[in-house]
Amino acid sequence: MPAHAIGNYERMSVREADPTAEGIGQILEARDVALGRYTTVRRFLPARTRRLIGPWCFVDHFGPDDVTAGRGMWVPPHPHTGLQTVTWLLSGEVLHRDSLGSSQVVRPGQLNLMTAGRGIAHAEESVAGNDEALHGLQLWIALPPDARDGAPRFDHYADLPELVVDGSRVVVVLGEVAGLRSPATTFSPLVGAHIELGESPVVLPTDPGFEYGVLVVDGSVSVGGVLTHAGSLRYLPPGHQELRLAADGDATLFLVGGPPFETPLVMWWNFVGPDHESVAAARDDWAAGRRFGNVVGFDGAAMPAPTMPSVRLLARNRDGSSQG
Ligand code: MN
Repeated sequence: MPAHAIGNYERMSVREADPTAEGIGQILEARDVALGRYTTVRRFLPARTRRLIGPWCFVDHFGPDDVTAGRGMWVPPHPHTGLQTVTWLLSGEVLHRDSLGSSQVVRPGQLNLMTAGRGIAHAEESVAGNDEALHGLQLWIALPPDARDGAPRFDHYADLPELVVDGSRVVVVLGEVAGLRSPATTFSPLVGAHIELGESPVVLPTDPGFEYGVLVVDGSVSVGGVLTHAGSLRYLPPGHQELRLAADGDATLFLVGGPPFETPLVMWWNFVGPDHESVAAARDDWAAGRRFGNVVGFDGAAMPAPTMPSVRLLARNRDGSSQG
C-alpha cells in the first residue's frame, strides 16, 4: 500500500449536521422491516428520494440480536433476480443455502456474495449451537443491464485484504480502497469496506466520480467534519477526493459507494429488473416452480410469492422519480 494513500490528520472540528445540506450530504434514517419470521432489520435503502447509492440498492442492518431465546435468523427459500446480495457479519453466524447446491456458513470478517443474475433461490438461518449475538448487514447491489440476465453464482471469501493505519482497520470487502483490491466478483465499479476507527482520525482517498454512503454501525463518527451517530447513514455526493473520518472513541462503519446508477429500476419483493414485465415474469416463475431451482436442506416451506399490485410497477430513477 502506498504510504500517501491513507493517512491520519489532526482531529477535525466537528459540527452537528444540517440533514438537508446537499454539500455535506444528507442523513438517511432507517425504518424497521420484518425479515423472515424472527428478525427485524433496519432498512436504510431504498429510501423514498434516494433509491440507490452507486449500484447499492438495498442496505439492511440487523441486530445485535440474542439468538439463544428464539430461532435467530430464519429466512425460508426465496428467489432473487438482477442483483448481488452481500452478507456481512459483525458477530454470530449465518448458514446460506442456495439452488446451485451451495451450503456455506458465513462468519464475521468473511463475505458471502450471491450473484442472482437471471435467477437464484436461497435460504438463510442462524447456525444451531452458535450462541453469539447475531449482528450484521445485508446489502444488495443492482446488476448493470449487461449482467442482469447472466448466470447465477455464489462466492465465499474467507480472507479479504485489509489496511491497518494508526489503530484503525479497513477491510476491503468489495472493490478497491487506497490501491488495495478485494477479490470479490463485481460487475460495475463500486466499493464496500468495513472500517474500525481507533483514536486517530483517518483520511481515505475517494473517487470523485463516486457517491458514497457511510453507515455508522457503532459509535459516533465525524464524517467529513459532520457528526454522525450509530444507526444513521450519511450520504456523500460525488466530487470528493478524500473522506475524513474521526471517531469519538472507537467506532465501526460500513462504507458503500459507486458512480451514480443511471439505469431506472423496478424493485419489487426480491426482484430487481428493468420493467414491470420482467418482475411479473420472475414472480410467476417462482409461483410455478420454474427458473429458480430448489434449495435443498432447509427445514421448512419456501416463501410464497406475494400477489402483484394491481397497478403497473414503475421503473424508478435513483432519486425516486419515474417516467410514467
Ligand atoms: Mn435473500
